Amino acid sequence: VSLTLVAEHLLAADEPGPFELVNPEGRSSIVLVCDHASNRVPRSLGTLGLDEEQLQSHIAWDPGSAELARKLSAKLDATLLLSNYSRLIIDCNRSPGEADSIPAQSAGIEIPGNQDLTEQDANQRRQQLFDPYQQAISNLLDSRNSGSTKLLSIHSFTPVLNQQQRPWAMGVCYDHSKNWARKMLRELRKRTEEMIGDNQPYSVEDDIDYTIPVQGEKRGLSSVMLEMRQDKLRDDVAVQRWCNLIAECCG
Ligand SMILES: [Zn+2]
Repeated sequence: VSLTLVAEHLLAADEPGPFELVNPEGRSSIVLVCDHASNRVPRSLGTLGLDEEQLQSHIAWDPGSAELARKLSAKLDATLLLSNYSRLIIDCNRSPGEADSIPAQSAGIEIPGNQDLTEQDANQRRQQLFDPYQQAISNLLDSRNSGSTKLLSIHSFTPVLNQQQRPWAMGVCYDHSKNWARKMLRELRKRTEEMIGDNQPYSVEDDIDYTIPVQGEKRGLSSVMLEMRQDKLRDDVAVQRWCNLIAECCG
């Protein structure tokens, strides 16, 4: 019998909490969430056995998504919740217990710190990172007590996947909220020559995604996920330009 020592607290007292709440009094009907905002790893988990380049890469987070979400929050006067830790610790947009919730490998890279985790390890990550983030979204949505609230989730995607160049600058991704998504698509396509994906590069699916189906759609809220290609968010000026465009089109 091998015993694994699990620290009681994943996060030290001087580390950020599991999530960040921005503009809690925002007056927009839109609530923004950013599941993959950060590549931070709790010190108690070291580097997960990865090098700095791997921890900076898209396997750890959605680069640029937090900047875009923050600018949108300011532009729309919308409340925003961001996860403060890497998706490699536990993915805040996957159901806990699923294989990709705590990935043993991602994009062909083995994650040494995620091999052979005990149930206790996995529960600790869930209870100290995933649950508080999702609970904050629940609390926020429940406190608004309004059927007019819409949930907009901000992600980014890598320009190349499996040697395939992805042509969309941005994707409007949805499942049940077709009216809102299609309106957004129409408005975006009126205003830009860039290719805007309709459920590309991803769609939203009940058995893959978590935040949109569970937090938004189960509450009956219009819920859409925006995916921005990462090279479109390369600097502040570019991020602001996309922010302004999205703000014009997401009403
Ligand atoms: Zn993402």
